[in-house]
Order: sequence, then C-alpha cells, then structure tokens
Amino acid sequence: MIQYGKQLLSEADKQAVLSVLESDFLTQGPQIIQFEAELAQKVGAKFSVAVNSATSALHIACMALDLQPGDSLWTSPNTFVASANVAVWQGAKVDFVDIDPRTYNMSVEALEAKLEQAAKTHSLPKIVMPVHFAGQSCDMQAIYELSKKYHFKIIEDASHAIGAGYQDKMVGACEFSDITVFSFHPVKIITTAEGGVATSNNPDLVKKMQLFRSHGVTRDESLMDYDMETLSPDGGMWVYQQVALGLNYRMTEMQAALGLSQLTQLETFVDKRHQLAEVYNQALAELPLTLPYQQDFQRSSYHLYPIKLAEHLNRKTVFDKLREKGIGVNVHYIPVHTQPYYQKLGFKIGDFPNAEAYYQKAISIPLHPGLTEEDQQNVITNIKESLI
Ligand SMILES: *Cc1c(COP(=O)(O)O)cnc(C)c1O
Repeated sequence: MIQYGKQLLSEADKQAVLSVLESDFLTQGPQIIQFEAELAQKVGAKFSVAVNSATSALHIACMALDLQPGDSLWTSPNTFVASANVAVWQGAKVDFVDIDPRTYNMSVEALEAKLEQAAKTHSLPKIVMPVHFAGQSCDMQAIYELSKKYHFKIIEDASHAIGAGYQDKMVGACEFSDITVFSFHPVKIITTAEGGVATSNNPDLVKKMQLFRSHGVTRDESLMDYDMETLSPDGGMWVYQQVALGLNYRMTEMQAALGLSQLTQLETFVDKRHQLAEVYNQALAELPLTLPYQQDFQRSSYHLYPIKLAEHLNRKTVFDKLREKGIGVNVHYIPVHTQPYYQKLGFKIGDFPNAEAYYQKAISIPLHPGLTEEDQQNVITNIKESLI
C-alpha cells in the first residue's frame, strides 16, 4: 500500500534516539531544552513548550488562556476532533465557523458575520482556533484584526503546518496569534512518534503552559507562593510547590532527540512536498477534479494533497477503486460537528454546509517526502483510471 502520509527517518535520526538511551536522562533532560530552543528559533517565536502530543499542546494552550465553563471556543468543522475536544475538556462551549469552499480553511467572512451576531446576544467566543488545513495558513492578519474588535484570543492549530509560511514569516512566529500548536505525529511534516509543541511570544502564557504540562508543580522560586505555610519553611533544595492544577503531558528525551534531528530536515521535507505537489498539479490538471487552491500570501507545508471530485463522481466508488489498487488514500475530514458525540451536544447535519459539501467529495492522495517518482506515477495512473 502506498500510504497517504508517512515518516521519513535517517540514520542520524536513529542514532540520536539511541544515544539518549545511553545518557543519564530519559525524560526532563537537556534534549527537551535544546529542542524547544531550536524549534522556537526555526519558526521565529520567542518560546516553545514541548509536550507529548499536539492534543496536549492545544489543551494547555486553552488552560493558559483561562478557558472555563461559560466561555466558548470557535474552530473549524474541517479538522481533527482534537481541536474541539480540548475545549470540551475545559467545560467550555464549542462552536464552529464554516469553511471557505476554495481553501477549506475557516472562512474569514463567515467568522466576521458570526461575531457580529454573537456581539448582539453577548455570546462572543473567548478563543478562536483557526486550523491551517493541509498546511495552508489561514489569513491570520484578517482574523487578528477581528480579534481586536471583538476581544478574543487566538490559538493557531498548525498541526499540519510546521515549515509553512504566512506573509514574510514562518507559521509559528505568532505575529497574529497568542499561541501556535504543531503536531509531530508520524503522518505530519516532521515526527517525534507522538509529540507536539506550543509556540508563543508571551512569557506569562509560556510559564503557565510549562506548569500545566507538569502537574502544576514548580521549582522556580519566582512562581512559588510564600504567603502559604509550607511543610518546608527552611527552603531546602528539595522544595517544590504545586501552585496550579496540571497534568503529566511531558515529552521524553528520546522524542526530543528525534525531533531535533528531524528539525534539521524540515526545509528539505517541505521542498520535496512542493516538488511532488507540482507533479500532481500538472498531471491531474485536466481531470474532473478540483486541485488544492493556494492563496498567494502564504506558502503551504503541503501536509495533505486533497482532491475534490466533480459533482457527477461518487467518492466511495473512486476511493474503493484506489484502495483496491494499493493506493492508500484517506479522507480529511469528516466534519467534527457531524460526529455522534457532537450531534449529542446539539449539532446537526446541515449546520456547516460548506464543510459538509467538501467532505462529500474529498480524497487525500499520497504525499510524503519518501514517495518515489515511480510510486507517484502509479498513483497518477490509478487516479486517471478510477475516474472513468
Ligand atoms: C494531528 C492533528 C491534531 C492532533 O495531533 P496529535 O499530535 O496526534 O495529538 C490536532 N489537530 C489537527 C488539525 C491535526 O491534524
């Protein structure tokens, strides 16, 4: 099976993991600190906080921005369920903003219209979470301008988009957001097996996220509460305080070492994805498909290459034909609000028609840096045959 997405590991990547196993620290050691520093530098953010998944990163981002029962978070229906789930965990209300039918990203016009309505009923969101679908950045400046008018915070779910650009900066620089989150799951751009990171330029948010990823416990005296009587009034080296309620979302040293090694290949991986996408753009141009439309203020990381079938084509038929031929196609995404869990929360089919219409015709075809020319030609041939 030619997979739709897959990790590409070098000898250096494997050695990096092995050498950690020979070292003193398997967790909470020097690799994490270095990974956080190099990642922040790479994307142009002041800080980064590495954790055991992007889901965890999204969760501590919501916690740091104080998302609580009674608050709401709005995201895109065209995303993985985790984007919405983290807000539900905080007891907040989740709502969605329909997508732009060209980019499949949250529509800025739909966001503006929904905000205008919400302002009238005093139900504005505390957080808006745009998702950079397939690696293409949303129009963050436009969303940021709306945040000034309607006073919401912004978390970018950039799980697909490490290595992508927006205007003259990298996604993750947080020029137009409070926090940006990347995923390192093996199908994403670079991997740590499981893993994720939150970047930010705000030291207060970063301190909070560091606390929340590790039980709410600190050894940093500046974060400690000296008004409380503690059991260690003599302040010995063993002293730590729990000053908040956190979780254990820590990344291991092996993962951080793999991440550091993978990070050195980020540009190579993204360039390779662009080359492969260009081949698809040429080879599939004349077929009854809509190819991924690219806005010119951004440079995609091409996490996915979603094709949208013409109206007369049946998605299941085409999908099954491709799978039978060993082409590991996939579908991104079943709109989150149509999942049984979210329907039980009150959402209905028909609530976000653009996301639903896109989903009905979408197929993600194989795209990853290890895809050979031969395999790609095989994908192209089979797509052509499957549309007849
Ligand atoms: C992969 C993904 C996540 C979750 O990432 P994990 O690292 O697997 O937790 C969240 N949002 C989007 C859009 C994703 O694609």
